[in-house]
Amino acid sequence: MADSTVIEVYSIGTELVMGRIQDTNAHWIAAQIAQLGGALRRMTIVPDEIDDVIAAVGGGIDRGTDIIVMTGGLGPTPDDMTVEAVSRILGAQTIVHEPTLEDFMSRRNITDPAEVTDAMIKMATVPEGADVFQNHAGWAPCIRVTKDDSTLFILPGPPKEMEALFSGYVAEFISASYQTKNAALRVIVNMSESEVSPLLEAAMEKYPTTYLKAYVAMRHSMNQGLPVDIVATGDDAADAHHILNATVEHFSRLVTAKGKQMELYDE
Ligand code: ATP
Repeated sequence: MADSTVIEVYSIGTELVMGRIQDTNAHWIAAQIAQLGGALRRMTIVPDEIDDVIAAVGGGIDRGTDIIVMTGGLGPTPDDMTVEAVSRILGAQTIVHEPTLEDFMSRRNITDPAEVTDAMIKMATVPEGADVFQNHAGWAPCIRVTKDDSTLFILPGPPKEMEALFSGYVAEFISASYQTKNAALRVIVNMSESEVSPLLEAAMEKYPTTYLKAYVAMRHSMNQGLPVDIVATGDDAADAHHILNATVEHFSRLVTAKGKQMELYDE
């Protein structure tokens, strides 16, 4: 795949659009994708409504999105309908994935099929033809399907499970889709936003594969210093670090020339 590969992330959950919990999954996934050198085009939050999920994710497929990552709605309760929504998008039946059910039974020491619960069957149900990767941090597995030009990864909502499955199965797929890699760090400058803004532009002009961004809203937590993120994209990890270092040095010289200071932020 070429570097024009585009990714979209969908977080499914009514509690998210009601403001009950924050969508930390998308935030975490976005950071991983950036580190892997990927290009994330959109992050969308959708309630647990089947028509909304079909419309949103179907739109992503219609836009020709190469990789779609979805989290949430894989649990055993009736409002969990991500599998049903994706099956309808694919025009596929849902089937009980026997190896997943066998995995559930062996992990719960169940030998009698009569002891299998509806919840277990629901969480072992996938669209027909899907690739299924077991979830050793929880129950609902990671599901991979393809539709037109899009590969969809469907992950459970609980962050620890989502992170383990993303790292285990999705990260490598994304990494293999991109030749380029990103490197990033944060610096702090004792400047105002309007003072630093032309310097950010100048650095990005000199190093066109970089992205510099100042975070005014975070100033209060930084002893009034202004945090600036510097992200560099290179042909590989070493190249990305090389460009990052050159950009940091250049930016530091620009700051010093204005009689101000820049220091590295130690996270
Ligand atoms: P479960 O088997 O737990 O039902 P699920 O895949 O159905 O898994 P959800 O029911 O959507 O996932 O969410 C389970 C829990 O995971 C939520 O209560 C919430 O705490 C957390 N969660 C879900 N989505 C997100 C998200 N986008 N960001 C942060 N936390 C999330």
